[in-house]
Amino acid sequence: MTKYIFITGGVLSGIGKGIVTCSIGKMLQVRGFNITAIKCDPYINVDAGTMNPYIHGEVFVLEDGYEADMDLGTYERFLGITLTGNNNITSGQIYQEVIKRERNGGYLGHCVQIIPHITDEIKRKIRIVAQENKPDVVLVECGGTLGDIESLPFLEAFRQMRMEEKRNETILVHVTLVPVLSAVGEPKTKPTQHSVKELRAIGLQPDIIVARSENGLLPLSAKDKIASYCSVEQRAVYTSYNVEPIYKLPLILEEQGMGEVVIEYLNLVKGIPKWSKWKQMVKKFEQPKKNIKIAMCGKYTDLADSYVSVNEALKHASAAVGCKVKIDWIETEIFEKDSKNVQMLEQYDGVLVPGGFGSRGALGKIRAIEFCRMNDKPFLGICYGLQLSIVEIARNILKLTDADSTECNPETKHPVIDLLPEQKNIKEKGGTMRLGSHEAIVQLNTLTHVLYKSEKIRERHRHRWEVNLEYQQQLEEVGVIFSAWSLDKKRVETIELTNNKFFFATQSHPEFKSRPWDPSPPYYGFIKASLEKKSQLS
Ligand code: GLN
Repeated sequence: MTKYIFITGGVLSGIGKGIVTCSIGKMLQVRGFNITAIKCDPYINVDAGTMNPYIHGEVFVLEDGYEADMDLGTYERFLGITLTGNNNITSGQIYQEVIKRERNGGYLGHCVQIIPHITDEIKRKIRIVAQENKPDVVLVECGGTLGDIESLPFLEAFRQMRMEEKRNETILVHVTLVPVLSAVGEPKTKPTQHSVKELRAIGLQPDIIVARSENGLLPLSAKDKIASYCSVEQRAVYTSYNVEPIYKLPLILEEQGMGEVVIEYLNLVKGIPKWSKWKQMVKKFEQPKKNIKIAMCGKYTDLADSYVSVNEALKHASAAVGCKVKIDWIETEIFEKDSKNVQMLEQYDGVLVPGGFGSRGALGKIRAIEFCRMNDKPFLGICYGLQLSIVEIARNILKLTDADSTECNPETKHPVIDLLPEQKNIKEKGGTMRLGSHEAIVQLNTLTHVLYKSEKIRERHRHRWEVNLEYQQQLEEVGVIFSAWSLDKKRVETIELTNNKFFFATQSHPEFKSRPWDPSPPYYGFIKASLEKKSQLS
């Protein structure tokens, strides 16, 4: 029998509901329970692939190629599970399915309505995940904030499921914000009270409240107040607060007794939690011996969430080599205004050019790559980072001055990066890139082989363009090594440079598979090389 934990959020968005969801999952995993997690996203987009990551946050690519909400990345990183597109339910998918069914006569004679048709479809999709994976517990998180019109059908579906499943088979965890006004210095529980009132108005009563506070644990008096106004037990009110690394939050909630209460409320058999591995992993993040500074050269990089997997992968790799990473995001347009600005990269131990789209800032990225190549600065290029490395080398070494990706200049005489052949006639934008996990063959005696220690690798992809093999020979002649290829040998997967100590770029996004206890090989190699270079210089 699968049990369900529903997680909702109130007061504000961005209060760490996803991390609370993961922490609950972890508390169950260390007690030996098999779990999975679903993110419900009330937006009308069918998936996150068509949304701007600089506004909405990163698009996280799953093994099966589904372009997911970034919370799925947090789930995979915390819980070490591999999710599929079924684990992300959006209003877009629900409406698409219901309307398709209606057109096919699936509801003949009926007026199709939000209740029951939309809510039934939401429940069906949630239960599919339970049937497929047969977990002990499914965590179902509703995106957005209580009060959003869009999330109402999802919350109504949760309410119905809580009625339909037996007692002790579901619990509801509500995550809210408890602000502290500096003038008064007292935690304010009123927004939480109002939020729960709102939940009750739609028929949902929380069992557990997790209050996000800025300054550590809430005092007993605040917990008492929340408990009595919101009708939850005082022992079922917990605090989450800012922690570094975020992987510490499950431990903080466990210390407050949350794990035991979740087990008790769900009527699960008690097991002794085994935290030792997780604690060891957290310790690695907390005891760095050295510092390292990495420049991330992209565009609009001010929204921290737009490259969350890249950031986390850098942190995982740094913890594994025993250092603390400081990541500075550099808007590459400044290298376009004055090419001398690129000299600022000298102060960094390594430079990363992440994935990206479009021509804005591309020249700046090319200049950053040139700087790394010329100065033997450890360089990691991800996806667009690989493509622009090829453009840089073609322009500056092969002297093909107008060499470009056709993404930036469709008229270029030297399209060193060109559209994948199967992309040429694609008009639809949603879910049509080369997506998901693809296998690649690694050449022996290459950096790629040293990094992955394997002749076959699998990484996730999200791109439309690729290296144009008409330029392969010329590029090889000037020291480019095409070190991993797609199985049909038609696609370049990784490149490296013979003359540099660590100049590595990949067409894939290895950050999606990085885990805090198992860093991604290219990120690990990059951080290690950056640290070595730093110690050589000092
Ligand atoms: N814009 C490039 C492409 O579509 C790179 C994509 C990326 O970096 N994810 O191929």
